Amino acid sequence: MALLGGTFDPVHYGHLRPAVELLEALCLAEIRLVPGHVPPHRPQPRLDAPARAGLLDTAVAGIPGLVVDRCELDRPGPSYTVDTLEHLRRSLGDQRPLCFIMGWDAFRGLMRWHQWQRLAALAHLVVVTRGGDTQALAPALDEWMRARRVRDPAALRASPSGHVLFQAVSRLEISATGIRRCLALGYSAQGLMPDAVWHELALRGCYGYPQISRAITPG
Ligand code: ATP
Repeated sequence: MALLGGTFDPVHYGHLRPAVELLEALCLAEIRLVPGHVPPHRPQPRLDAPARAGLLDTAVAGIPGLVVDRCELDRPGPSYTVDTLEHLRRSLGDQRPLCFIMGWDAFRGLMRWHQWQRLAALAHLVVVTRGGDTQALAPALDEWMRARRVRDPAALRASPSGHVLFQAVSRLEISATGIRRCLALGYSAQGLMPDAVWHELALRGCYGYPQISRAITPG
């Protein structure tokens, strides 16, 4: 099982397509998308947590293997990944493999995460690369990573935690920041996310998008 955290503010194909590719590349039965309540590392989301989770439900409907996990929303306070992994580990037991999926940019800043070294005691880290990720790691992180790095996804199934795997996925030039900017200017975000998600966003006029009727009644 694997976990993909994020703010999903809102969810888009840049989240969904890499997740599907990871399901196949790593032979995973399930990836849990975990929307964060109060992300400690970044500005607060624009949509509240239940709304972001609801859009995620809509987004994963019909995609086998992708499920929404609201565990961070049920916890008060900051959404520290280490707490989420502890929580999952308790329900999974000590022996089942667990992967935590993160982007290369996030991995480069890993040493700023709460109890970062504990993360690999609880799970494998799958670092998603998208081409063009050429910046060097901080020397201490690089050394830490090299001691744990594996190149074969099968190694992630052979132990419960402790490895780091770099996995390339398609590069989709989509970001939630770009989508929010687009909507605030009154431009459509259709095509950047499943249509059902787009219709929900447009119906509610999220992120300042005013053209509700244009989105739901084309022509
Ligand atoms: P924002 O623009 O608000 O920072 P985002 O679009 O990057 O948001 P997040 O919710 O922060 O989305 O991302 C959740 C996870 O999805 C992170 O691991 C991130 O690296 C990954 N991700 C986001 N966009 C893409 C993309 N276009 N391709 C591959 N992975 C992505």
